[in-house]
Amino acid sequence: MTTKFCKDVLVLLSGGIDSITCATYLLNQGFNVKALTFLSNNKIFSNFKEVFCAKEFARSKSLDHIILDVSNLDVLVNDIGNMRFSIGGKLGGCIPEYQQASPMSVEIMHMSSMMYAISHNISEIYWAIHKDDLGGDSPDKIIKYLGTINSLSEINYGVSCKVKTPFLYMSKSQVIDIGVDLGVEMNKTYSCSVGDDDPCGKCDQCKLREIALFKAVKRKIAI
Ligand SMILES: [Zn+2]
Repeated sequence: MTTKFCKDVLVLLSGGIDSITCATYLLNQGFNVKALTFLSNNKIFSNFKEVFCAKEFARSKSLDHIILDVSNLDVLVNDIGNMRFSIGGKLGGCIPEYQQASPMSVEIMHMSSMMYAISHNISEIYWAIHKDDLGGDSPDKIIKYLGTINSLSEINYGVSCKVKTPFLYMSKSQVIDIGVDLGVEMNKTYSCSVGDDDPCGKCDQCKLREIALFKAVKRKIAI
């Protein structure tokens, strides 16, 4: 491992391939990585399996790891239309439309992480969103959104705290390529939107993961 930076950073760690690859990349760069995971335990949707993977990863790397239970936030929203930027994963017809996959918006996620970061003197938060997550939105929209989010810490606290998106212009398979190169244990990550013990294999997150892993393996074989 290199020790270029001995700086604290915060990673939004869902327990999926993307966030675990992002955390691994930052660790390899020598950052002191702290992790924040959002637990959704409402009666409609839970991401226990994903959170379990996040916990195991954080434990294996001895990361400071906060798990924030956001289960009750579902009282604020009424349907899947409240999700933006595909947080929680696109559903691909696996879950009826009236059921919500995530009880929170990205704004709540980012504001909560900013509260933690600022109070721990952390100036960078890493969000492993990539272009296959955008569901029709353009990266420019994310950049514009982040510009607003990032300015809030300066306006309110007078300090700079930025949400960074190193994978924004990459496909999921490119992210997986990075993960494979970094030795991320793919079988210890979880991405399915349904949240059962075994991935459903049908939702968009499962399909994307399968295609991306296949492409990554093919590229390795070609080398
Ligand atoms: Zn699935």
